[in-house]
Amino acid sequence: MAHLITLIPGDGIGPEVAEATARAVEATGAAVEWERVEAGARALEEQGQLLPDDVFASLEMTRVGLKGPTTTPVGGGHQSINVALRKKLGLYVNFRPVSMLPELKTRYRDLQLDIAIFRENTEDLYSGLEHEVVPGVVESLKIITENASRRIARAAFEWARRESRKKVTAVHKANIMKLSDGLFLKCCREVAAGFPELQYNELIVDNACMQLVMRPETYDVMVLPNLYGDIVSDLAAGLVGGLGIVPGANIGDHHAIFEAVHGTAPDIAGKGLANPTALMQSAVLMLAHLGEREAAERLRNAIRSVYAAGEHLTGDVGGSASTGEFTAAVMRAM
Ligand code: NAD
Repeated sequence: MAHLITLIPGDGIGPEVAEATARAVEATGAAVEWERVEAGARALEEQGQLLPDDVFASLEMTRVGLKGPTTTPVGGGHQSINVALRKKLGLYVNFRPVSMLPELKTRYRDLQLDIAIFRENTEDLYSGLEHEVVPGVVESLKIITENASRRIARAAFEWARRESRKKVTAVHKANIMKLSDGLFLKCCREVAAGFPELQYNELIVDNACMQLVMRPETYDVMVLPNLYGDIVSDLAAGLVGGLGIVPGANIGDHHAIFEAVHGTAPDIAGKGLANPTALMQSAVLMLAHLGEREAAERLRNAIRSVYAAGEHLTGDVGGSASTGEFTAAVMRAM
């Protein structure tokens, strides 16, 4: 039976990279069927709702989504769709594996980087609890709970054990935020105690960023609260060639949504210049999640072989191919 998957194209370059990825997934030979639903600025314009009910109805049925980026206005306007989806579906793990693609010319190309980032996905400063105390003074609440901290730490350690990784690094600022980040660290330490075969260390977030730039090869698995995870995963993406490459997965106990780390890239939207690699790599994670291991490997290897040949790469990674040319090359490589 075909896997039914909710496809949310999103805004900006979203529809371009989503369509490219859907074609590449079909070319793996995996039996998939898409249920296309709209969310984001386009859904608001066309249906009067940012997150129409049919998005949830579809995800309730399929349990698996592939999502393009959606617009979130800065400093006002509507709430982030991603934050709403993650909260409502309890997608508490944000997993971002950051690794090198063959022959891609980056500043760190001599290092074999392979860093798995586990970002807490439901709370912290992303709780959206902000208010004006008096004019000129606003308060933004940082929520850290034992429950959410433990489950993200457990997800990171369990994955590290399953994948025979060596070390998990918890990132924090508990020297300043003693209670909130202190609780996050306490939970990480407790979980770490159950995984004696894995090394465990802790780094303060500012130092962690400096070390990532100076010695990125010393990182293996990282676990972070929401905000640091967001920032550090973009930094890590920069080490391996940028946002056009790095995949992501939002996973909960009942649902999973796969999406790239990048946003809607309004500067290149609609021009056929977007790099679909990040969403294609997210689809590799999705196929593995669906138990389609062979199809996942086929897509992964096809992407890698196109990078190794270096002839059909998009502009963000030093080539001159369009989204369509890159996609066609990936499909030919399967
Ligand atoms: P962005 O990731 O959209 O773009 C940053 C830079 O990277 C731009 O120069 C862009 O052209 C480039 N880039 C990003 N993805 C690329 C790709 N696939 N191929 C080639 N180049 C690519 O970040 P931003 O400009 O800060 O955000 C734009 C919008 O996206 C905002 O509304 C933001 O809220 C939203 N956003 C959405 C998500 C999501 O839905 N998951 C994530 C991040 C940002």
